[in-house]
Amino acid sequence: MEFPTAARVVIVGGGAVGASALYHLAKAGWTDCLLIEKNELTAGSTWHAAGNVPTFSSSWSIMNMQRYSAELYRGLGEVVDYPMNYHVTGSVRLGHTKERLQEFRRVVGMGRYQGLELDVLGPNELRGRYPFVETHDLTGALYDPYDGDIDPAQLTQALARGARQLGARIERFCPMTGARRENGEWVIETPKGTIRCEYVVNAAGYYAREVGRMLGRDVPMMVMSHQYLLFDTIPELAEWTEESGHKLPLLRDVDSSYYLRQEKTGFNLGPYERNCRAHWATPEDPFPEDFSFQLFPDDLERLEWHIADAMARVPLLAEAKLAKVINGPIPYTPDGNPLIGPMPGVPNAFEACVFTFGICQAGGAGKVLAEWVTEGRTEWDMWSCDPRRFTDYCDDDYCVEKGMEVYGHEYAMHFPKHYWPAGRDRKRSPIHDRIAALGAQFKPFNGWERSMWFAKPGDDTSEAATQTWERDGPWAPRIEEECLAVRDAAGILDLPGFSRYRLKGPGARAWLDRLVTGQLPAPGRIGLAYFADDQGRIVTEMSVMALDEDFFFLITAGAAQWHDLDWLRAHLPPDAAFSLDDVTDAFSCQILAGPRSRDILASVTEGDLRKPWLTHQSAQIAGRWCQLVRISFTGELGWEIHSKVEDTPAIFDAVWQAGQPHGLKPFGMEALDSLRVEKAYRAWKGDLSTDYTILEGGLDRFVDWSKPDFKGKPALERQRQQGVGKRFVTLLVDAGDCDAPYMSTLWHDGKVVGETTSGNWGYRTGRSIALGMLRADLTEPSTKVEVEIFGERFPAMVHGDGAVWDPENERPRA
Ligand SMILES: Cc1cc2nc3c(=O)[nH]c(=O)nc-3n(C[C@H](O)[C@H](O)[C@H](O)COP(=O)(O)OP(=O)(O)OC[C@H]3O[C@@H](n4cnc5c(N)ncnc54)[C@H](O)[C@@H]3O)c2cc1C
Repeated sequence: MEFPTAARVVIVGGGAVGASALYHLAKAGWTDCLLIEKNELTAGSTWHAAGNVPTFSSSWSIMNMQRYSAELYRGLGEVVDYPMNYHVTGSVRLGHTKERLQEFRRVVGMGRYQGLELDVLGPNELRGRYPFVETHDLTGALYDPYDGDIDPAQLTQALARGARQLGARIERFCPMTGARRENGEWVIETPKGTIRCEYVVNAAGYYAREVGRMLGRDVPMMVMSHQYLLFDTIPELAEWTEESGHKLPLLRDVDSSYYLRQEKTGFNLGPYERNCRAHWATPEDPFPEDFSFQLFPDDLERLEWHIADAMARVPLLAEAKLAKVINGPIPYTPDGNPLIGPMPGVPNAFEACVFTFGICQAGGAGKVLAEWVTEGRTEWDMWSCDPRRFTDYCDDDYCVEKGMEVYGHEYAMHFPKHYWPAGRDRKRSPIHDRIAALGAQFKPFNGWERSMWFAKPGDDTSEAATQTWERDGPWAPRIEEECLAVRDAAGILDLPGFSRYRLKGPGARAWLDRLVTGQLPAPGRIGLAYFADDQGRIVTEMSVMALDEDFFFLITAGAAQWHDLDWLRAHLPPDAAFSLDDVTDAFSCQILAGPRSRDILASVTEGDLRKPWLTHQSAQIAGRWCQLVRISFTGELGWEIHSKVEDTPAIFDAVWQAGQPHGLKPFGMEALDSLRVEKAYRAWKGDLSTDYTILEGGLDRFVDWSKPDFKGKPALERQRQQGVGKRFVTLLVDAGDCDAPYMSTLWHDGKVVGETTSGNWGYRTGRSIALGMLRADLTEPSTKVEVEIFGERFPAMVHGDGAVWDPENERPRA
């Protein structure tokens, strides 16, 4: 066969993920695609993977991806005529605590919504499924009937075969050695020759950083060594298997952090140890040129505790002889989720790499990647895996610190008031020390440390105190005080790292107008604007501050910095006479809110504080320039005070001092979230995601149908005529000790009829409130539904689609 010198898409890397990406591109009709692999297919992590295929995840989107994989793998062998060893054994996940069972119950609810029947077992039922397990100290277990294991090499070969059958090509022993852009195309260099292509996909696994560099991208990742231990035959297990006619389900002791799988008539034990080891992270341990089909030396010492624990849990294991240790490289991003989607800052390039669970995710990842390439969007909102969620703060040290933290807590629960300690202080507000001195408990947002709540002397701020799903804890009385200060007097919240773009020059307004669904504000005013994709789905929300006819500041969520900029840039006309710049790092922001905020400001500025809601003005505080913006995410009278970073300390000091006689208190992001939920203000990537259209999201009033054209208009017009199947609602919940987490299911008449997208306690209203999506025929106010919270159903009532607090917006207009 001749060497292929051109293809529409080149995928770099022939592991399970690269092969799945090729297969799904070909299935989508993009058959002119080529996968290049430096060695033989499966030479990377895929070669030594244990091949577990769980569906469990506490993340909705990851669970979706894994569910899709398991479904695909069940039929794949037959579809491509390549039989595979795929054993669906089921699994049991052990719970040692009440909190763990709550986590399981929540996942059972999410699973049911995705069509998976998972189940929570009591200790006795557990023994029925797994007779060899010690249960005396367990609270229960999660049973997942879909879990299993697959041969990773066979899976990869099957996907490759399917792709080839559809016309895609694979070139083995063909490393990418360089890349350049030429005439709007990529030229990929290999020792066998160059390949021209329209798109390139980095699917190079733990080599992704090296491949990324050739494309001009620094991939946020690190590499851990991960081991599993294979034990010899155990006669009793062999006998049991013979008698029962099946294998044991896979056992995960998540609180002890390992899995134990039956491997033929022995066991495979795979721990995620706390005292873990990063590789290739220092100059003394450089990244190798090639590590194909290689392993690290065994390192059993670090696993001793886990081996002993597993032997105590399943005493049968103690009878077995250790036969083999596999210690291989496994890549990690700073949050442990892979990178799937557009490559930040690099044209026509995508990532499908840095998979920690790449065997069970390969199927779904291939689907998602293919959608990104062929359609520029994905069916499911995949922000959890979007490469743009990591920005410039993720240097090597950060990646190593976070990767080790995630690995050592692979099965940990992610409690809402627990803020993970590794990799902190990457970006600090100019008044960080002042806020810290007031008791701030920090959490990073896009690298920026923001105060979550303010502790008082004697409050328990330990990590141990945060290991709960419940609303109450040392933070609760403080968050309440903060909310009530904002309601009754005034509060100030330091908000560094609010993403901000400057859009300026002739034609700026006309261009922006075609991108947003609604009307743009006139100069001197600020307004919310929504961006839809071609299907009318919610891409993002920005505050648009109009300084002049063709001069705007676009302000968006901290986390959205690279995502939203990418969206704007992708829509720039080639001949734009205006400029678009990211000026996030040049400014900072304080939110001053509450009925006394006007009095406080009046004592530090000459600005016109009678200017109405949704206006802004340049003003001076402490002799420094600032922009006073009459808007507040709290739903109270208030201003955002935007200032240059270097002027922020002086401005904060002046406002803080002036506020003391008025009862000014600092408040944090926890209070802000409570306040905004009472106002039914949406949060990005919770309530606002591409899982919903603008109309489903109840954002009709932000659509200007009279505009001749805007992005997404035809799709939204169609939906307006046909009506929506589900729609945004605010719910009043008779909750117990926990408010509704993201993706809690809504029930009516014994049927699942929707899901929550946010939930919190409203301290002004004294109510548990949830925002969510409900079947359209049930959205009438006062309709009764139920919300399933950690497995228990609680009564809830539809409030409508607006605010519970001050529905007429009288307070911010005051
Ligand atoms: C011990 C161990 C056990 C594991 N067990 C499981 C498990 O049970 N379940 C699970 O889901 N996951 C498991 N994993 C993780 C899993 O192995 C990986 O997530 C998965 O294999 C990643 O697949 P991939 O295709 O992304 O990467 P890889 O398999 O690493 O493939 C990347 C490919 O890119 C090629 N390549 C690199 N550079 C270039 C270049 N310049 N040009 C061309 N080609 C290049 C490499 O040769 C390689 O073949 C385990 C990992 C380890 C270490």
